[in-house]
Amino acid sequence: MTRNATDQQTRHTSLPAFRKYRPLPAGERDQPRMTVRDVFGVDGWFFDPDAAAASRPWAFAVLHLPGTHTPSGQGWAVRGVDGDRRQYGPLALTRRDAVYGASPYLHTEKPSALVRVEARRQRLVLHVRCACRISEAAVKAEFTDFTGTAAWLDKDPGARWRFCRSTPRRITWTGGAGLTQSGTVRGTCRHHTGRAVISVVDDLGCYPRVFLRDLTPDAL
Ligand SMILES: [Zn+2]
Repeated sequence: MTRNATDQQTRHTSLPAFRKYRPLPAGERDQPRMTVRDVFGVDGWFFDPDAAAASRPWAFAVLHLPGTHTPSGQGWAVRGVDGDRRQYGPLALTRRDAVYGASPYLHTEKPSALVRVEARRQRLVLHVRCACRISEAAVKAEFTDFTGTAAWLDKDPGARWRFCRSTPRRITWTGGAGLTQSGTVRGTCRHHTGRAVISVVDDLGCYPRVFLRDLTPDAL
């Protein structure tokens, strides 16, 4: 067995260490300590399977997402902490399953586009900040922002669409008064005008519908 294969196996059988606070590099010990809530607005834990190598210190977080669509109403998801904060692997019922589900993807090359659109069985699947493998033939379009994605999607108002299972469920958008609001995705559909729209439960417990084009750039 190669060393790499051994490493992979180890990753599947043991969990990494979890930290409430993100450890700081030696030169930054005077900086304020940061929790997952400081970064993502929800509770969770930092971890890094390569922490010993220390080239990317504590690069990942596993988030506890209340109100997500799992049988228990709670969910866990792994996100990158820096840069585009991509989600790795699918939403899971437990912290452990989220980390195991993410582990095959943590070391794969990240796609450069924010949104990749896949054609799957008469339906368009939007992959946002995920590391899903999509065959090149199935990729219909790629976008670096939601405005461009929405403009493209709205050209064919009859096309059904949804997010992939690994797309983050927490979103923020610019509301009517220009205020930034946030909530959790419940589903996707079309507005009666044909525009792509997302049904959401917001942080106040209301059920607004949000146009895809109104998502803020760091929305998901
Ligand atoms: Zn995906």
